[in-house]
Amino acid sequence: MSLCLSCGLCCDGTLFRRVPLEPGEGARLGPRVRLSEGDGSLVQPCRALSERKCGVYEDRPAVCRKFRCLALEQLETGELTEDEAQELVSEALARRRRLAEVMGFEDEVHALSLARAQAAAGLLGDEATAALERLSRTLFFLNLTVQR
Ligand code: SF4
Ligand code: SF4
Repeated sequence: MSLCLSCGLCCDGTLFRRVPLEPGEGARLGPRVRLSEGDGSLVQPCRALSERKCGVYEDRPAVCRKFRCLALEQLETGELTEDEAQELVSEALARRRRLAEVMGFEDEVHALSLARAQAAAGLLGDEATAALERLSRTLFFLNLTVQR
């Protein structure tokens, strides 16, 4: 789906931090992905992601095969037009970029992760808090489930 090729938010650590795997999937994927030492789940940002494309597409885990964010579902059912779905993705990417700017990092996913940790600890500054809230709202509409 072309929407996904301009997005990658469900693979790059923005929407999720871990992907639960079925028995044997970790061994099958091997070093092509990074696995958690704790529960063996796939750690995001996913190592297999390259320029918003899954590098193990034919061999991807079952959860990845099944996952569809709300925007993608609504695009497929006709509840959203391609332009509307693309606008949601573009807004999320722009708001993530803005948060990284405010945080002073080039790595947007790292900035997001740090902002979430600082917000949870009550240490995030006002401007970054506002940027994180704007991003979280867009991610909520994109997927309706956001891991903090
Ligand atoms: S978040 Fe949605 S649109 Fe983006 S890559 Fe994942 S399924 Fe595709
Ligand atoms: S294996 Fe592919 S679809 Fe699954 S998280 Fe990694 S890049 Fe995304």
